[in-house]
Amino acid sequence: MARVLVIGGGIAGTATALALHKAGFDATVYEAHPDSAADIGAFLTLAGNGMRALAQLDASAMVTALGFPLTSMRVLDRTGAETAHVPLGDADDPRLRYRCLRRGDLNTALQRETGARGITVRHGARLTAIDDGPRGVTARFSDGSTATGDLLIGADGLRSTVRPIVAPDTRPRHAGQHVFYGYTGTAPVTAPGECITMVRGSAVAFGHTVSPRGETYWFARVAGDPLTADEIAAATPDMCRAQLLPLLRADTTPAADIVAATGEELMVTDATELPPGTPWRAGRVLLVGDAAHAASPATGQGASMALEDAVVLAKCLRDAPGTEAALSLYETLRRPRTEHNTTVSGNISRGTHTASPAARAAAASRRTGDDGELVRLLEWDADILRTAQAVQAAQAAQGPVEEGQG
Ligand SMILES: Cc1cc2nc3c(=O)[nH]c(=O)nc-3n(C[C@H](O)[C@H](O)[C@H](O)COP(=O)(O)OP(=O)(O)OC[C@H]3O[C@@H](n4cnc5c(N)ncnc54)[C@H](O)[C@@H]3O)c2cc1C
Repeated sequence: MARVLVIGGGIAGTATALALHKAGFDATVYEAHPDSAADIGAFLTLAGNGMRALAQLDASAMVTALGFPLTSMRVLDRTGAETAHVPLGDADDPRLRYRCLRRGDLNTALQRETGARGITVRHGARLTAIDDGPRGVTARFSDGSTATGDLLIGADGLRSTVRPIVAPDTRPRHAGQHVFYGYTGTAPVTAPGECITMVRGSAVAFGHTVSPRGETYWFARVAGDPLTADEIAAATPDMCRAQLLPLLRADTTPAADIVAATGEELMVTDATELPPGTPWRAGRVLLVGDAAHAASPATGQGASMALEDAVVLAKCLRDAPGTEAALSLYETLRRPRTEHNTTVSGNISRGTHTASPAARAAAASRRTGDDGELVRLLEWDADILRTAQAVQAAQAAQGPVEEGQG
């Protein structure tokens, strides 16, 4: 197996290309957007496990140059009283610390790193169709061009064009919440440095953190019916504030003041997920990242899961005896973990998750990426066939994934 076509130049696609390249494969990335800076502007948190995966790709430095670290998480109740304050991640190793950054910045940096390593990233290449045949898989793009390879990786996100080839009956589904995101430089600074604060309001799950430059990054998750794409596009900052402020003012937390101080950098989207059991592969086509296992943002794990996917997939293709065995092992190793995350995240978004805020905080603090089996699975130099058995046993007994930063 030599040539791999990677569809999508987001987090999953670029990380997959970096990992395949490191494992000695010939990967090319095809990205629909004409440039690297296309993004809705939301921020995200890379958790310790995602940072560990990046380290295995020798790509930590370009991420630790962006955004800022998060070394603790505190929880406030609806009165603003602190109910928990726990450490996050491995504070001793800067490469493994949780990192808060803008998604567009991360995408741009990953694409730049991909190009710097000699991997082609073709911008403006929007996939429209796939022909999977006995001698190769051919991708067709909207500009009329084609590319043929031995394997095609669908890393084209939640609204994947590749997915219908593999999973024609799967539809993304609403996870019960609207998610608002904002940035403000004029909110009263109400949090310690390198700390993310979760506010358990009566109607809103609110999170905020303050960058070293004094800018407050915040999100708010609110129960609601699905929004149409037109409604999301038409939602103005004024409309978002008008919806959020009455809900936030019912409590005595810093959240309302932060939202009131936010200007134009305020947006809304839906919490959307893919149903567990979504098929991931057919013939020479495999889905990774959100295209395979998009989860609601409540656990803040989507990007980190995509980075884990990349490392595990490349190791499977490197170490397993043949492509079929590699893809089968990949799915065996990745499906339980990613679907566990989707389920827990969806339950939090739908309000059916029962753990207390303090228990969630404690679980989040444990989710450092230091879990021994995961560490061995991601460890680049460890043969994945040797570690697979132990990892599968540990996955069967794994502890909960809990609420994160999304
Ligand atoms: C509001 C929100 C908050 C979140 N917060 C967090 C968080 O705090 N932590 C975290 O880890 N995760 C978070 N996530 C999830 C995270 O953003 C995703 O899991 C991650 O971006 C998935 O990466 P991906 O590469 O699979 O998909 P995407 O980032 O969607 O990238 C897909 C790429 O494919 C391209 N593409 C699409 N169609 C085609 C086509 N036909 N041809 C070619 N290219 C195509 C797109 O242009 C895009 O560049 C959040 C998500 C949302 C929506």
